[in-house]
Amino acid sequence: MRVGIGTDVHPVEPGRACWVAGLLWEGVDGCAGHSDGDVAAHALCDALLSAAALGDLGAVFGTGRPEWAGASGVALLAEVRRLVAAAGWTLGNAAVQVIGNAPKIGTRRAEAQEVLSAAAGGPVSVSGTTTDGLGLTGRGEGIAAVATALLLPTV
Ligand code: MG
Repeated sequence: MRVGIGTDVHPVEPGRACWVAGLLWEGVDGCAGHSDGDVAAHALCDALLSAAALGDLGAVFGTGRPEWAGASGVALLAEVRRLVAAAGWTLGNAAVQVIGNAPKIGTRRAEAQEVLSAAAGGPVSVSGTTTDGLGLTGRGEGIAAVATALLLPTV
């Protein structure tokens, strides 16, 4: 078995569509970035890559693969799943925690878990927290996510 960790942070951009945990959150300001800015999906990608020792998002989807520029977080996660499987690993489980004032993850947790689990190829649990007004997430300047993943060898 192998464990991995991933984190991501994006700045909030007022008026931008909010994609977090594979879901579109109406009425919530989304994240800037050249992709959909889905911090939860990105953190999960890095956790899976970390566990498989395949590097990180920047290494896998960087300038060497321009066809992935602007891809959705869920599409990136599905591709990471393929790479991890090709390396001989299958997802035991993963967990991701979204840190920010909005969106309120608990209101759509089951839906988020369904979307991310389907993309990742194994059970993904989704949680949320705030920082009580402290720091960039507490001031609403950004949304962050932390993820872990456990991979099992494909036998
Ligand atoms: Mg990101």
